[in-house]
Amino acid sequence: MTHPAQQRCFNHPGREAAARCPVCARHFCRECVTEHHGRVICSACLLAGRQAPRSQSRLHRAGLAAAAGILLAWMIFYGLGQILLNIPSAVHEGRYWKASDAAP
Ligand SMILES: [Zn+2]
Ligand SMILES: [Zn+2]
Repeated sequence: MTHPAQQRCFNHPGREAAARCPVCARHFCRECVTEHHGRVICSACLLAGRQAPRSQSRLHRAGLAAAAGILLAWMIFYGLGQILLNIPSAVHEGRYWKASDAAP
C-alpha cells in the first residue's frame, strides 16, 4: 500500500504532502505549512525564523536605502534651488530699479 511517486508529510507519514518547504526542502501536508510573505514555509522553519534564499527583508532594506538616497538628493537639490532662486532675483531687482531710474 505504498505510493513511491507520492511524497509524504515529514510530520505525518500517513498524509500526502501538499507542499514542499523551500528552506529545509522537506515535504509537508497542508496543515504543516504556512504561507509567509507569499512563500509556503513549514511551521518548524517559520518558528526558527529561517528565511528562504532571496529573502524579502534584503529587498526591503535595499528599498529603504534607495528611498533615503532619493530623499537626501531631493533635499540637496531643493536647498540648492532655493539658494539659486534667491540670489539672482535680488541681483535682478537691483538692476531693474537702476535701469528704470535711468530711463526717461
Ligand atoms: Zn522547512
Ligand atoms: Zn503534516
